[in-house]
Amino acid sequence: MKVGIVTVGDELLVGATVNTNAVWLAEQLTSRGCTVDRITTLPDRISDIAHVVNEYRADYDAVIVTGGLGPTPDDLTMEGVAAALGRETVDHDAAREWLTEQGGYSADDLAEGTAELPAGARMLPNEVGVAPGAVVDSIYVLPGVPAEMKAMFEAIADEFVGEPIYTETVVADEPESALVDRLRAVREEFDVSVGSYPGEYVRVKFSSTDSVAVEAAANWFEARVQSPDSESTE
Ligand code: ATP
Ligand code: MG
Repeated sequence: MKVGIVTVGDELLVGATVNTNAVWLAEQLTSRGCTVDRITTLPDRISDIAHVVNEYRADYDAVIVTGGLGPTPDDLTMEGVAAALGRETVDHDAAREWLTEQGGYSADDLAEGTAELPAGARMLPNEVGVAPGAVVDSIYVLPGVPAEMKAMFEAIADEFVGEPIYTETVVADEPESALVDRLRAVREEFDVSVGSYPGEYVRVKFSSTDSVAVEAAANWFEARVQSPDSESTE
């Protein structure tokens, strides 16, 4: 399953808030076997949200949007998502019911707009905060507050499935530039993804849904590079 992540918030774009939601979601989705193909951060602006969500829903099996829920004037995400689908936002019966019956808010307490979701959406209750989330078509709209976003994602996590991905890492004690020929060769020889991450040593990560191919590629590569241990024993 391919997923696009959209994080919304002016505060993210000016560097006032670290985008921990994107990192957390990417890690969760990847560990469930989904592939995250794009992470995009947008301002609180309806046209941008509508444009990108519309593009991503065509390209990916699911789109997760976080941030900009709630009733304040700078919270425009629900309207942007509705616009992406050519729909309106509507006062959502189930959302209002949940907020008043389970959320403990009286109808008068609720700021106008709190229960507004894109027409036809499934409401996702906010167990930690107030503003409800929504699922509409393949678009999942979650709150920006990290604790609220995590709790809501955990409630729907089973809807994100993929084949498990196997990984093996080989550590090489050679400059990355010297490894280029063997990195190219291992890519040609085996049908696996290869990532190289330089640091004190170069960590080369092999991954695929085929565990046998991953192990074969890692063994092939390990036999052809200098490992940190082999150097110290020479
Ligand atoms: P609320 O209903 O409280 O208004 P919300 O869903 O509208 O919540 P935002 O208004 O976008 O969310 O952000 C609320 C808080 O969550 C902000 O303080 C912001 O710093 C934090 N936040 C928003 N997006 C992210 C993100 N991508 N990563 C980390 N923190 C975030
Ligand atoms: Mg808000």
